[in-house]
Amino acid sequence: MPSLGKYEIGIVGNGLSAYLVLKHLVSLAPEIKVALFNSSQYNAIEGPAYLKNEKAHFFLNTPSSKIALSDENAYDFCDFLGLNAEERDWHFASRADYGKYAKSKLALYDSYARQFGSATDIKRSREGFEVYTNDGIVSCNKVLLATGNDFDNAWQGVIKSVWDFDYSVLKPTDKVIVIGTGLTMFDVAGAISDNCNQVTITAISKSGLMPAVQPVIPSPPIPFEWDRVTRISLFEVVKQLRKNLELANGEWWRALDGMRPVTIDLWNNFSVFEKKQFINHLLSKWNRARHRAPKQVFEKVNNLIQSNTLVIKQGRVVQASANFVKLADGTILNADYVFYAGGAISNPFNSSQPFWQNLKEEDWLVSHPSGMGINATPKFQLIGKNGNPVSGAYTIGNNMRGTLLECTAIPELKVQAKKVAAELLGN
Ligand SMILES: Cc1cc2nc3c(=O)[nH]c(=O)nc-3n(C[C@H](O)[C@H](O)[C@H](O)COP(=O)(O)OP(=O)(O)OC[C@H]3O[C@@H](n4cnc5c(N)ncnc54)[C@H](O)[C@@H]3O)c2cc1C
Repeated sequence: MPSLGKYEIGIVGNGLSAYLVLKHLVSLAPEIKVALFNSSQYNAIEGPAYLKNEKAHFFLNTPSSKIALSDENAYDFCDFLGLNAEERDWHFASRADYGKYAKSKLALYDSYARQFGSATDIKRSREGFEVYTNDGIVSCNKVLLATGNDFDNAWQGVIKSVWDFDYSVLKPTDKVIVIGTGLTMFDVAGAISDNCNQVTITAISKSGLMPAVQPVIPSPPIPFEWDRVTRISLFEVVKQLRKNLELANGEWWRALDGMRPVTIDLWNNFSVFEKKQFINHLLSKWNRARHRAPKQVFEKVNNLIQSNTLVIKQGRVVQASANFVKLADGTILNADYVFYAGGAISNPFNSSQPFWQNLKEEDWLVSHPSGMGINATPKFQLIGKNGNPVSGAYTIGNNMRGTLLECTAIPELKVQAKKVAAELLGN
């Protein structure tokens, strides 16, 4: 394969994370030679989250005042939307608008990196890494995996690109099954009802739980406190959370929000056994309470449930295709369309993408012991099979879930990107 040149840093992925890191690299070291490996699936910066769909409107679950990309102006996104001071604090914008905004802030960094096609494999070399593309091999001293959210589950025929699906093809007599009952199901159910409000929808998940609704007005969080010197067990964390929930007196989100500033520290203080216990028994409840739907979205879904247009069902899907879903208890449900809304793959090695299949053989890139994401230090450096940090290999975003737990929302990515850029430059 032809050599396509040598670069100091290779960034695999072209979503928001990749561009945020690129922005910091350019400001810290303007002469740096960066190679950027682009997705063949999604447009740069917008990724799956912020793409524009003429037939459906999807909303952010983060208030517009909390996701500015500017470091100087917290209301930068609100200003972009033209919101006034009364509107801006608890406003939820459309994700397509956020995509436009993010591109207006970050697309200028395109010219600071040499653009290549998708990475198909990465091998370690004497100087660092060789990143394979369909056109040739790019040598990079350091690599950053900013591969983001992967929805490539194994079921053939199931609709996975739910955000760019043409919902106007649905007919009133159609039956739809949605695998998942979280925020993506809210997106799908909302888009279906906007296009054809007689379609019947069955949404299925293991927990049968839907996300909670955002409070109408924000109220002060109840801080989660511990001395940070002594280890705190998962059992003690749950006990203290229960106490804080009592203090919250019905406003349960105040107790949850009070944990946000310390979530990463708490997560890091747990043993691998506790992390697995949390993932197996508490993660779906945590997600339900943490990832809340804006009121207008929640009410729309609730109305669909009230009118029996949407039915929520508890069950474990063991098989699915374009027209049916099989549950663990043997039930088979037929449908005209089956949508996958089960969230991004938590361990990228479960992806059927050739890139991850090829990387399975490598000893410098392994799953996190918790089973979520890939193994990395809290400073974003990969940890190899031998348990040691791998020189020059880093990751950001969804791949960091095992190390950080909460790491994919925009405010978190902003913080990570700054730190990752400094690590990549050895600062
Ligand atoms: C539907 C959805 C809604 C969301 N809503 C919100 C919200 O309201 N508020 C909030 O704070 N956060 C939200 N998020 C979180 C979101 O994950 C982040 O905000 C952000 O978009 C993630 O950016 P990323 O670059 O890490 O990943 P992505 O956007 O997934 O980008 C990664 C890119 O890398 C590409 N890639 C993967 N492998 C390769 C390869 N081998 N070679 C080249 N390219 C590759 C992918 O195809 C993709 O385009 C949402 C996420 C989703 C999926």
